[in-house]
Amino acid sequence: MLALQGAFGLHQKVLEHLGAGVVQVRTPQHLAEVDALVIGGGESTTMSKLADASGLVQPLAERLVTGMPVLGTCAGMILLASDVMDGYPGQHCFGAVDLVVQRNGYGRQADSFGARLSMKLDSWQDDFEGVFIRAPKVCEVGPRVEMLAELDGSAVMCRQGSAVVCAFHPELVDDDRIHRWFLDLV
Ligand code: GLN
Repeated sequence: MLALQGAFGLHQKVLEHLGAGVVQVRTPQHLAEVDALVIGGGESTTMSKLADASGLVQPLAERLVTGMPVLGTCAGMILLASDVMDGYPGQHCFGAVDLVVQRNGYGRQADSFGARLSMKLDSWQDDFEGVFIRAPKVCEVGPRVEMLAELDGSAVMCRQGSAVVCAFHPELVDDDRIHRWFLDLV
């Protein structure tokens, strides 16, 4: 679990409940210990700056290039995209999923909402409740990206190889299927 800033505690709880051993990643040494990484919600601008300050940018980029499984939610999606709109100049985006995203593209905190999402996953029986909080909006999707869920014509969950991103917060609902699916992928 990337634990530089933001909502990593609830993700950790779900993952541990599912039997995963969780390391809070704050340094390159921590990153070297893990088989996979979850990057949760929070503030992508702050996470980007803290990744710089903690020396994580280069090692994280290397792990992602060599296919470490990663799940990025909300701010995590922004960090894993290939380009970000409305970030700060030089904000890191690691390009694990070929997406252009706009920060806060669904509006401000007060515009937070929930939406039933139908997931394009084989074993999926029914919809998933997506909670969107200052969520990034996907503006462009590259050719190698698989869309797993969309909302009003925009992708809200995507996968490219072993990198999975969602614009919403799966750790905030009483439904652990996305975490379970990711752990199966790992
Ligand atoms: N808007 C935030 C950002 O830019 C993301 C919000 C969230 O993670 N809930 O990082």
